[in-house]
Amino acid sequence: MCYQCGSSTRRSFTRFLAAGAGLTVLSACTPEAPKVVPSSSAASSSPAAVTDSPGATPEVATVGSSPEAPSPSPSATLARQFSLDDPTSQWVIVNKHRPLKPADYVPADLVRPAVAISAAGEAALLNSTTAAAAEAMFAAAGRDGVAMVLASGYRSYTTQVTTYNGYVAARGQADADTASARPGHSEHQTGWAFDIGDGGGACSFQPCFADQPAATWAKANANRFGFVVRYPWMLHPITGYYYEPWHLRYVGVEAATDMLNRGIGTLEEYFGLEAAPGYP
Ligand SMILES: [Zn+2]
Repeated sequence: MCYQCGSSTRRSFTRFLAAGAGLTVLSACTPEAPKVVPSSSAASSSPAAVTDSPGATPEVATVGSSPEAPSPSPSATLARQFSLDDPTSQWVIVNKHRPLKPADYVPADLVRPAVAISAAGEAALLNSTTAAAAEAMFAAAGRDGVAMVLASGYRSYTTQVTTYNGYVAARGQADADTASARPGHSEHQTGWAFDIGDGGGACSFQPCFADQPAATWAKANANRFGFVVRYPWMLHPITGYYYEPWHLRYVGVEAATDMLNRGIGTLEEYFGLEAAPGYP
């Protein structure tokens, strides 16, 4: 899915990629496979990486630490309260070094949250804990006059296989790895993560979404409902993904608020895990 990305944004980000800034970095939010088109008709050599891996909004900063910051650890009261490996755990960490186990994991409690949803099918689902938290958060945003929609939630292993293989068929594996998470490596498969939009669509899945009310509200308030912005600005050397102001991850109010208060931007840092900039 193209998400109506702007061509100028594509071009500028393609230049950013071409400059060597992060060819190994993937997008976490590519719900659908690209259409296989002849290279002569392709608008860009790496459209999806541009579409779904925005990272060129330097005026927008996220709460978080820099990659050079001392490695933090969760406060004693929170340490290892939940498993980092069990996909049913709200603290499960999935990244390019940590595939889901089992790779074809399916949450047992997928539900459709009672919120505004622009996604269809399985993408409208979340696990039950995340769904309840999303309902509370969307309602609070609404009370503040901020429009927020669920743009993409659960994504099955099967869907990710289709997505990833589509990229491989179109562009080869090396390039596919810059555009789509490998099957079993997508946080969307856990049911603990989803992407938000604002219902307008103009900036959906684009860098300019960071400046939209839904994103600024979420950055400031999501912790109160247990969410973190999982892929903050400029922390891709740690997370493996460029800034995604739309991608929220449930970790619980306590941990999300602790991270915000302590200025810790990534779950990898918070839990003392190694950086995962690319696949091993
Ligand atoms: Zn996402």
